Amino acid sequence: MYNFFVDASARIGERFRISGKDRNHICNVLRMQVGDTFLVSCGGMSSLCCLKYMDETVVEAEIVEEDHRNTELPVRLYLFQGLPKGDKLELIIQKTVELGVAGIIPVEMSRCVVKLDEKKKKARRERWQSIAESAAKQSKRNVIPDVSDVLSYKQAMEKAGEMDLFLVPYENERGMAATREALERIKPGMSVGILVGPEGGFEDKEIELARQAGAAVISLGQRILRAETAAVTAVAMGMLHVEMNLDGDGQ
Ligand code: SAH
Repeated sequence: MYNFFVDASARIGERFRISGKDRNHICNVLRMQVGDTFLVSCGGMSSLCCLKYMDETVVEAEIVEEDHRNTELPVRLYLFQGLPKGDKLELIIQKTVELGVAGIIPVEMSRCVVKLDEKKKKARRERWQSIAESAAKQSKRNVIPDVSDVLSYKQAMEKAGEMDLFLVPYENERGMAATREALERIKPGMSVGILVGPEGGFEDKEIELARQAGAAVISLGQRILRAETAAVTAVAMGMLHVEMNLDGDGQ
């Protein structure tokens, strides 16, 4: 979640008035809208605020919760997950939401066994979203991560290519140097996509397309992990790296 630091003079009653560089960032870079929430830190205390008003010189944000504990990572981790069999994605959603993902994107890949028709996709998505919601509440997240529509591989590459960093844990990759380097590239405020294959893994062609989209192909160690173990491991690895190395101002 974004966090802006202001002086005590910015507080007027239950609102913060934010101008200058931060206003520009909110309006023109982040393109926030009325109703969006973010944190405002003032005098060592963070408040959860809701954007109420914006014009050419100022943004006004109303305090929703004072002395709010931000539990969000200063980096947005998105899990792109090749559709696994049965209800495995439910477990993956529950666990990765607890670990701090910003969103989950189910992806159709060549070696996926399940094929969902449109009706099933819609019903599944609703169920997946409700699992994300309960996991977010249980783990005291500030936001409820979004489970997106199921994307084709091509659509997933386009979306992942827009991320600041795109990581692909690949079962045939050897050595941890690329993994270490990739983690070291993570900086506060970044969006990081992580694509994990289904039970059948990746086809060579898919790895090639991922590389073309800018992916860093990495290993998660010498053992072959099941898809759900790999998803949880990759997100946990990103989360712990961020928690241990980056401070939480989220900008
Ligand atoms: N069927 C494949 C394994 C697929 S495991 C085989 O037998 O070789 C499912 C997914 O988990 C993989 O596509 C990959 O994204 C991830 N994964 C599993 N083990 C991994 C490892 N050691 N390193 C990196 N990724 C791994």
